[in-house]
Amino acid sequence: METARKRQIAILGSTGSIGTQTLQVVEEHPECFEVYAITANTRVDELIAQARKFMPEAVVIADETKYQKLKEALDDLPIKVYAGYESICQIVESGPIDIVVTAMVGFSGLRPTINAIKAGKAIALANKETMVVAGEMINALAMEYKTPILPVDSEHSAIFQCLAGEMSNRIEKLILTASGGPFRTFTKEQLEHVTKEQALKHPNWSMGAKITIDSASMMNKGFEVMEAKWLFGVGAKDIEVVVHPQSVIHSMVQFEDGAIKAQLGTPDMRLPIMYALTYPSRLTSSFGRLDWSSIKEFTFEKPNLEIFPNLRLAYEALAKGGNIPCVVNAANEVCVAAFLNDRIKFTDMPRLIERAMDEATYILKPTLDDYLETDKEIRRIVEEWIN
Ligand code: MN
Repeated sequence: METARKRQIAILGSTGSIGTQTLQVVEEHPECFEVYAITANTRVDELIAQARKFMPEAVVIADETKYQKLKEALDDLPIKVYAGYESICQIVESGPIDIVVTAMVGFSGLRPTINAIKAGKAIALANKETMVVAGEMINALAMEYKTPILPVDSEHSAIFQCLAGEMSNRIEKLILTASGGPFRTFTKEQLEHVTKEQALKHPNWSMGAKITIDSASMMNKGFEVMEAKWLFGVGAKDIEVVVHPQSVIHSMVQFEDGAIKAQLGTPDMRLPIMYALTYPSRLTSSFGRLDWSSIKEFTFEKPNLEIFPNLRLAYEALAKGGNIPCVVNAANEVCVAAFLNDRIKFTDMPRLIERAMDEATYILKPTLDDYLETDKEIRRIVEEWIN
């Protein structure tokens, strides 16, 4: 790729799984990218090491108790150091930044993403919760400020790649593939007793804890249906989830003539990250290549909505619209944290999420304040049910 100047990147959540892999992409092509800012939630030691290596203009730690340590560790370098969530919301607006990689976990991605769009920054969207909670609002803002939203999620990147050169052709159907997670073949009874250690062992992808639990419960796929609806303007009834345990086909697009395009590859997030950063071009990579001799079979099956109710709940939330996807997201975040702390069972999660959907106050056209209020209120009541 020919670049007059290096693209200036801000990485929100740089110490997480997507964040560290984004830095590997930068290392792969230092002639194309420069890290302008990195932010982390609490992992200060990793953040210090990254800052010393990549020499960004600015670093931010959300956890203010870690500010002193960060500041002292970078004292000898010309790096600006900030702390607190508000600083993350502000750093994305810095003039030189071209693209913001939103790789933080959960609802916390919403406000920095909105600010980045308003500042005219391209968004490499890794934080799917932003689109789950407020897809309609994000799309309206992206349109108003003429900023592209480039998917990092592997399924959505696959669809995006299939759509290259097809922009004027109508999409008939999106086919999102799902690995099925570690409990794909489990019965309802078996699922009642699974441990967090089992849930944290994803068969194909290595990811952060929150998304790994979401994958095991199929909530991740539910969120991806919502994300696909807003990214590609396709109604939920035209988004089909197909379980493909080999995770080689990353997703597919069916056009109105019946043709289906698929994108395939190894399960390596660096590829979709790099594509989001270089779209519409591609760069060379040293990442692993698919070895066809090692692929014995491609199999496909329907997801089991009875055993994994979260996927059904996600479709219901999309149909209800308004603030209900925000309700599902908030309830799910509380449930995942509680499951990881051994406070609830795996199968309690969909029960609590469904109850939150039933009891939430419905808002048809939520404002940003409504989303913040819904998020806070649902967290409070689901916490109460768990205690
Ligand atoms: Mn995905």
